[in-house]
Amino acid sequence: MEEPRGTPVPVLPARDLPEPEEIRRWATEQGILILAHSYQDGFLQESAHFVGDSLELARQAAEARAEAICFCGVHFMAETAKILCPEATVFVPDLEAGCSLADSCRAEDLERYQGHLSRKLGRRPVTVAYINCSAAVKALSDVICTSGNARKVIESIPEEETILFVPDQHLGGWLQEVTGRDMVLWNGSCMVHELFSVDTLKALQAEHPGAITLAHPECPKAVREAADHVLGTAGMLRMVRKARGLTFIVATEANMLYRFRKEAPGNTYVAAPGASCACNLCPHMQRNTPEKLWEALQLRAPAIEVPEEIRVRARRALERMLAVR
Ligand code: SF4
Repeated sequence: MEEPRGTPVPVLPARDLPEPEEIRRWATEQGILILAHSYQDGFLQESAHFVGDSLELARQAAEARAEAICFCGVHFMAETAKILCPEATVFVPDLEAGCSLADSCRAEDLERYQGHLSRKLGRRPVTVAYINCSAAVKALSDVICTSGNARKVIESIPEEETILFVPDQHLGGWLQEVTGRDMVLWNGSCMVHELFSVDTLKALQAEHPGAITLAHPECPKAVREAADHVLGTAGMLRMVRKARGLTFIVATEANMLYRFRKEAPGNTYVAAPGASCACNLCPHMQRNTPEKLWEALQLRAPAIEVPEEIRVRARRALERMLAVR
């Protein structure tokens, strides 16, 4: 039976919690694949079989033959795994881990707007959806993209087509700049990246002269313009792996620095602060805790379900993305 969203997951006393390596080993014995997004905390990253960004995890899920996948991330990411692996039981530590960006684009609103735009243009626009959206929005889209492949996806669409880009206005704005394509942008944004302040970033740059500033394309234009490089998380990782002895100021979710320090320890990393607080942790990602992970693994729940009609259409859009190399 489908688990209703919001069902609280019982939490084990902390003393009963195994170490991350034991959790991973136990999950392997049980035939459970643990995937964790790079924005999860260090314990969850260490417990996972694979850590990555949305694109890497979508590929891992697509190639997995696991009977069960525990997805440490937010709801739309686990939905993506379910879309690509319908036979697997896909479950999450906390069903309430959502996403402000995904929530900013509801399927019914998108469908209405697509109709409006089609009437205005006299033909359907090509809808490109950033992967940070619900399965129902993916099903209404022609192709999906991530921050890592968005540029290639946009460049794969014929010039004469009108592109409707959803739901991130900042990523869409950056894509317009780098591809020169005029696109219709949905006005959604990520609450974490939206809060980076250009003033605090410039103050940090003054404190660390010589530091290289990396900004995620989900950041507002003023923050992107103050950065040395605008890169998705995979692009950031490639850059820091090649460097030695450098200081990087990083404007993306602060847990990304855990992965940088682990995979490229020869550099110094400084998290760019938000406008109103010192950290930039996603409150949705933070809902997943080690205790909830361990409990979810025992229960193989709460499970993610996607209606078949939506799953099939969403999968088509995802496969178009996976075909763009
Ligand atoms: S960091 Fe932003 S886009 Fe990512 S899950 Fe959190 S709210 Fe959504």
